[in-house]
Amino acid sequence: MNEAQIKAFIRDIPDFPEPGIVFKDITPLLGDPTAFAATVEGLANAFSGEIDKVVGIEARGFIFGAPVATKLHAGFVPMRKPGKLPYDVSAQHYALEYGTDSLEVHSDAIDPGDRVLVVDDVLATGGTGAASLDLVRAAGADVVGFVVVVELGFLNGRQRLGDVPVVSLVSYAGT
Ligand code: AMP
Repeated sequence: MNEAQIKAFIRDIPDFPEPGIVFKDITPLLGDPTAFAATVEGLANAFSGEIDKVVGIEARGFIFGAPVATKLHAGFVPMRKPGKLPYDVSAQHYALEYGTDSLEVHSDAIDPGDRVLVVDDVLATGGTGAASLDLVRAAGADVVGFVVVVELGFLNGRQRLGDVPVVSLVSYAGT
């Protein structure tokens, strides 16, 4: 599936979760077996080379990250909102397009030297992505790439991610 075909399954919801935000709703894409499979395939093929761990960012990053991990024969690591993970965690605070939040990861989930691919649904301002990269690097691992289904290009999130290679399957130049 090409970019336009995937885009056809992504719905704009104006003023959600608050006024001024146009929410990119990926549930129509998830509900279509061909579009969902093609999206997972596209994410998994975005980078070449060995991947040891796929990090998925809560919550929609889990939906895409887990099947990408099995395709790449990599482990899956959930990066979660505060207070959800039961074991020792490393934490990182960050600013969102709307509000602030933190991400946590189990302290033994990523090994030093691991080659890590980070997966999320949407790259907006890049705050979430930057926090995830900080956590991966704090574990002593290498970030191979950051891959998302949707990039809101007009928010320049890519710049927040520094020199990490970023791939998005579909991109929007404006709201
Ligand atoms: P950011 O930290 O600004 O790059 O925001 C990325 C995170 O927030 C992702 O995990 C998305 O799920 C969510 N997000 C931010 N903006 C939107 C949007 N306009 N539509 C859908 N999800 C969004």
